[in-house]
Amino acid sequence: MTVDLIRDQVRKCLYELETDSRLVRAGLKTEAQSAAILERYRDLQSLRTLDFLLQVQEQTQIPRERERSRRLYYTCLSLHLYGHVAPLSDSLDTRLAQTEVLMDGNPVNYFDLPILIEREESAIVREDLDRQRLQVVEDTNDVRLQMLREVLACLQEHLHHSSYLEYCRAKKKVDYGKLAAALEPAISKLEGLYRKHMGNWLARHDLGELGRIPECHVHYLLALRPLDKGGTLPLERIVGGALQAIGLPLSSFPNIHLDPQERPQKNPRACCYSLSVPDEIHLITKPTGSLVDFNTFLHESGHAFHYACTGADLDFEFKKLAPSYALTETYAFLLQKLSCEPAWLEAFLGVDRRDTRTISYYTILSDLYLFMRYTAKFSYETGLFGQASGSLAAARNLYQETLTNRTGFLFSPADYLNDVDEELYSADYLRAWIGERQLAQHLRRELGENWPCRAQTGSVLKALWSRGDQEEVEDLLGSLGFAPWDAEPLISWYRDSLEG
Ligand SMILES: [Zn+2]
Repeated sequence: MTVDLIRDQVRKCLYELETDSRLVRAGLKTEAQSAAILERYRDLQSLRTLDFLLQVQEQTQIPRERERSRRLYYTCLSLHLYGHVAPLSDSLDTRLAQTEVLMDGNPVNYFDLPILIEREESAIVREDLDRQRLQVVEDTNDVRLQMLREVLACLQEHLHHSSYLEYCRAKKKVDYGKLAAALEPAISKLEGLYRKHMGNWLARHDLGELGRIPECHVHYLLALRPLDKGGTLPLERIVGGALQAIGLPLSSFPNIHLDPQERPQKNPRACCYSLSVPDEIHLITKPTGSLVDFNTFLHESGHAFHYACTGADLDFEFKKLAPSYALTETYAFLLQKLSCEPAWLEAFLGVDRRDTRTISYYTILSDLYLFMRYTAKFSYETGLFGQASGSLAAARNLYQETLTNRTGFLFSPADYLNDVDEELYSADYLRAWIGERQLAQHLRRELGENWPCRAQTGSVLKALWSRGDQEEVEDLLGSLGFAPWDAEPLISWYRDSLEG
């Protein structure tokens, strides 16, 4: 066993797993086969390999080399945990893909329900659709619970981690208690602003008051359909033009493979796969012709550019094995939020000034809702993951209470395992939410107010992206003069945009 051999196997294993997932998401393949792939790479997941990598890490004196072996170790550890649940996970995905509910006598696929809910004009029908969705979730929760129990038991018995939370802390080197404490003042400063503007939004649609309305209705608002003037927007041309304007013409990145094709089985959510960094990046979209297409397409292109511009000569561990996703999500949020800028909307969407202000306002209010929702998810997930495997009984209530109290929408306890991100991804997102506004402030200082439309923006970003995933977002922004988790730029952006 050598480190070089393990690294090579990790590269191949991840490539196969992600390709399998990409083909399923793109609608080019029906069933996920991650269990079969993991079976072929059993050695990588063995306790012997993990012990070997731990030893290597302990014996390495040079910090950069130590970090490389640390990343390899945690990747093999993730694969080990995944190996425990992959057969269950594959069968759950296949079962859900085949599950249909009846709406007015017509069969509807489970995965299409969220899209139908956000497009549905009638509040009564929305609630009916969501009831059906929740029933499917409830019927399959035993599988989710079994997967979680297996992971927790494995961490405790084989890997000496007292809890899942402790495992995430060790892997990502984040003190979640400190992160929670840093978020607290931001939440209390934003709470009043959020409740006032969200309350007005609900009233405008006769949807009742916060604290009394089921969560499914917020998806209808977030889709911004009432703002759509109808017709299909030429998404690729508009996004292409906007990226060209900031010096990032998609056509000059042959390593970014764009897949906008319409296929019936294609997952409606856009996504990005960094199969081989920086050589083979896939950007998958399924445009619906609505305004939110811009958000998601731009978000995923942020990931795509980050990986496509990563320095080819960096070590594999610094190109592909980031312990957390906070940095790449920061870049994704940065491009996504171009579509919050009125000047950008006016230049690229071709709508008049009054409409740009309205679209910008609701896009930012949607973003504030999601931020509040993620702060609640983070606090629920730290509660859930902080426990030992035996005591999950109180989790259903904790989920419902935490999400409902923070957002003002009534959440169902049925989603308590379905609405959970692996490895505390919710915390990565929150770090990116804060980091993105710091980065935007940096671009404003360097390039002026008009940075979302300037060609130099691309050059500044390319220089950052070339650093790949060597640093965590706090270190990278620290090198630009920002204090970690300083949420002031984010808070003042929400305040100025919504109240101004
Ligand atoms: Zn993302």
